[in-house]
Amino acid sequence: MPSAKLCDLHTHSLASDGTETPSEVVRLAARAGLAAVALTDHDTFDGIDEALDAGRRQGIRVVPGAELSLPHDGGSFHMLALGVDPRNAAIRAVAGRLKDARGPRNRAMVAKLAALGIDVTLEEIEEEAGGADGVVARPHMARVLVRKGVVRNFQSAFDLYLGRGGAAYVERERVGFDDCVAATRDAGGVTVLCHPFTLGFDVPGSAASRQRFESWLTQLAGRGLDAVEARYGSYTAKQERYFSAAAERAGLLPSGGSDFHGTIKPSVKVGSGRGRMRVPLAWLEALIERASSRPAARP
Ligand SMILES: [Zn+2]
Ligand SMILES: [Zn+2]
Repeated sequence: MPSAKLCDLHTHSLASDGTETPSEVVRLAARAGLAAVALTDHDTFDGIDEALDAGRRQGIRVVPGAELSLPHDGGSFHMLALGVDPRNAAIRAVAGRLKDARGPRNRAMVAKLAALGIDVTLEEIEEEAGGADGVVARPHMARVLVRKGVVRNFQSAFDLYLGRGGAAYVERERVGFDDCVAATRDAGGVTVLCHPFTLGFDVPGSAASRQRFESWLTQLAGRGLDAVEARYGSYTAKQERYFSAAAERAGLLPSGGSDFHGTIKPSVKVGSGRGRMRVPLAWLEALIERASSRPAARP
């Protein structure tokens, strides 16, 4: 049993693409000896009530949250809304719009491809993405097009068909970073940039890519981002050092979580990730302190 009080601020349940019920996630957190756990399903608060109930029964603090998927050119841009009131209308509206945005767009793009004589089904794309419940997006379409020999490589799939200006391109409804920050603040929470290595910046990498990433991060801090995942279930020691330092340089608080998904990512455990992750409870307290110390976004 660890001596310092620990928490896990990033987990998924059956309410999105995890394999365990919200109660089971909370039970695993309690069994791991954690003082608190955040349930952060993708674009939904559906599991929160069950998790809060389980938390009361198990004597562990449950922090309501969601992982919001934002539009970004280089890769996946995921941001946690943490410590929010899940009944807040603004945050519910943002999560709902993000959740609904992908389905119609994917269908419209498949229809455009069909009109061009390219035979690709939504089911094939969902299969490429590991099922319809998770995030199904253009990179999965691109991989299907490459596999079927429609295009030579991933890049030409975007150049010819899927990118802005491509023959099958459809604009996605944009719920931007600023909308998510405003809604999260309205709901009394904080925003946390997730697993920044998925953004396409190639960091730690070269000095040039680090500089590009950190100036982007500083810009987000200026627009209201609160924290970065300085610890993460699958970080290497090198990534942990780099993202902790980068967060501090950008004036952001550290956050951390396993990104537990249950049996689809069996090597990642609640509370410890792949084994080395430890997230101090003091980090959660600092995040809550930041949320409560600022005036409400709207009078
Ligand atoms: Zn994510
Ligand atoms: Zn996640």
